[in-house]
Amino acid sequence: MAERFETESRKLLGRLRDVMAGDDPGQARLDKITHLIADSIRTEVCSIYLFRDEDTLELCATEGLNAEAVHQTRMKMGEGLVGRVAKRRHVINTADAPNAKGFRFMPETGEEVFSSFLGVPIQRLGEAMGVLVVQSKEAREFSTDAVYALEVVAMVLAEMTELGAFVGEGAAMSARHSQPSMLRGTVAQEGVAEGHIWLHEPRVVVSNPIADDPHRELERLEEAVEEVRVGVDKMLQMSRDAEQRQVLEAYRMFANSKGWMRRMQEAISNGLSAEAAVEKEQSIARARMESVADNYLRERLSDLDDLSNRMLRILTGQGADTGAEMPTDPILVARNIGPAELLEYGRNLKGIILEGGSVGSHAAIVARALAIPLIVQTARVTNEALNGDHVMVDGEQGIVHLRPDDTVVTAFRDKMAMQTEALKRYASIQDKPALTECGQIVELHMNAGLMADLPSLESSGAEGVGLFRTELQFLVRNQMPRRSELSALYTRVLDAAQGKRVVFRTLDIGSDKVLPYMKPTDEPNPALGWRAIRVGLDKPGVMQMQLQALIRAAQGRPLTLMFPFVAQYEEYRQARAALDKAIARETRLGHVIPDDIEVGAMLETPSLGFAPRQFFEDVGFLSIGGNDLKQFFFAADRENERVRKRYDSLNVSFLSFLEQIVERCADTGTPLSFCGEDAGRPVEALCLAAIGLRSLSMRPASIGPVKSLLRRSNLEEVRKVIMDARHRGEMSVRPAIMKWLAEQG
Ligand code: PEP
Ligand code: MG
Repeated sequence: MAERFETESRKLLGRLRDVMAGDDPGQARLDKITHLIADSIRTEVCSIYLFRDEDTLELCATEGLNAEAVHQTRMKMGEGLVGRVAKRRHVINTADAPNAKGFRFMPETGEEVFSSFLGVPIQRLGEAMGVLVVQSKEAREFSTDAVYALEVVAMVLAEMTELGAFVGEGAAMSARHSQPSMLRGTVAQEGVAEGHIWLHEPRVVVSNPIADDPHRELERLEEAVEEVRVGVDKMLQMSRDAEQRQVLEAYRMFANSKGWMRRMQEAISNGLSAEAAVEKEQSIARARMESVADNYLRERLSDLDDLSNRMLRILTGQGADTGAEMPTDPILVARNIGPAELLEYGRNLKGIILEGGSVGSHAAIVARALAIPLIVQTARVTNEALNGDHVMVDGEQGIVHLRPDDTVVTAFRDKMAMQTEALKRYASIQDKPALTECGQIVELHMNAGLMADLPSLESSGAEGVGLFRTELQFLVRNQMPRRSELSALYTRVLDAAQGKRVVFRTLDIGSDKVLPYMKPTDEPNPALGWRAIRVGLDKPGVMQMQLQALIRAAQGRPLTLMFPFVAQYEEYRQARAALDKAIARETRLGHVIPDDIEVGAMLETPSLGFAPRQFFEDVGFLSIGGNDLKQFFFAADRENERVRKRYDSLNVSFLSFLEQIVERCADTGTPLSFCGEDAGRPVEALCLAAIGLRSLSMRPASIGPVKSLLRRSNLEEVRKVIMDARHRGEMSVRPAIMKWLAEQG
């Protein structure tokens, strides 16, 4: 980079800063900036286009084009050269603009006399905010130095736009993040909620994009890189987990990358502060991330993104804790979140919106357990939402209304009122059984895992707890709970149940349920790996401790427990033997042993459906874990939205398999229930009942809607609809069932 240009660019940024320091209104600032840029680049035209809404760019200021066109000329994303720069987030530099691909003639601007065109995206963290354009009459391509200088200026403009420096009259001049925005995602937990945004990872704000002293800024950059390097090396020394090591190695590679460092140093030489230089590189990486199809490369770019965030936090001193106060009605926004982190927030949250995430994840299960509406796969939400923004979450349609206007607020509140009405209706059948029109009774139980769930046992009308996920108690802690703690907790659960049956599932960890205090294992495919009963049998200490805690907690009362993820009869036998050992030990120690201990297994792998008859005769009861069973039946990861969505739970093959299990259990008299998430979806629950399941366990909030539908339905008719669809060779029975339901009115 020529020294002359560096100085020019720095001078320009210095002048820009003076404009920013003045107290001109937004429009005057923009006008001055276009003037300054045209003057320094020595070109006739400089224009700034900003997004009026998600899809429309508006000419907001110009030096050299017709002044009347300001706030009049607009173009869609992708339209004309300006729209193309914004869409592709690429520079366009051409000596012959009227003949360039995509050129659109806009007579009102008077730009026809200008041949050369250089357009640079104004973007922040991969989000397009506008376009900065210079044009000249002389047919010439702008030099790479000019392009570079303009990119640096565009970076500063992006920061200023973000900080609201151009706020003024006109929609395009309103503060960013101040207009209503509607985002779409996928429903992972139904329900509607109104509240205010709480960002799980608050955005870093760069308030000083321009710096005077490049030497000091270079030092700051070096120091930050060094701090990251040392941190990464330390973590690498401690980490045993291959995947984590891979990410750390990638960090180290970037931290040592000469190209990355050089580009940031250049940006600083051109007048940017260290943090603005980091953010400039981060923006470029994010824009690339969107266009790269290769998974490996995407992951590396995402590592670079994380690394940049670390650097920004070091340079700005802004940690995860910004000191902001959590609103009283928080709606959590995050790229993704694990079950343990979510449990830490607990019931305080009114809703959750994730940019990534998946319906089948354990975070989703936790959200369901907590009855918090959850929307996953909501593109752009972490960019669009600011802490404290008013938001309405429509967990029926999968829509997020960010900063809603009055009409949306009114319509939404009507919807919430209707939901309250429905809840009243459900409350009226709370004490009635799920007695179908054809005279069958389906037992409805609830899933739980936290103490806070237990009041729902009364209010939901559940007959008992069909699945108590004991691992949630392990996930919320920073260290392994002690036996006495667990025993006290289980006692409270049984006390609260007041004699209703509670099925404790023994510790189900592994896969995505990672205990923070247990040494992580390095597995190529954790969902198929060392998890649940496999861990319990290989590491009997923890299982013994938990079994003893359960026996003690019962204090002589009946106890029901089941083992998760049993794939073959032998595993059940071994687990049962472990229980006998615990009983023998407790007897020796003089503790009261429950005189009735029911022991079951979860059927979560197809293999167990084909277990020998002796297993079905031996096991006390079976509970189908439909979430896992479905993922293994279809070989489709429950956490991977892309593949998960392909397979409907009402798929004929899956229902046929479930029916076979029902028949085998009927044959041996083995009590059977279903406790996967599908049990809580009314239409799915109806089909499960129609194929013969008489016990379903679900989140408490589903009991009302499921019971209400069952009480209105004739299972024999539903069964016939299923059989007919199967007979016709349909893939899923859903269309036929939905049609039948619509006909029932
Ligand atoms: C299941 O797999 O259906 C189940 C109930 O267990 P979890 O969702 O906790 O894995
Ligand atoms: Mg499971």
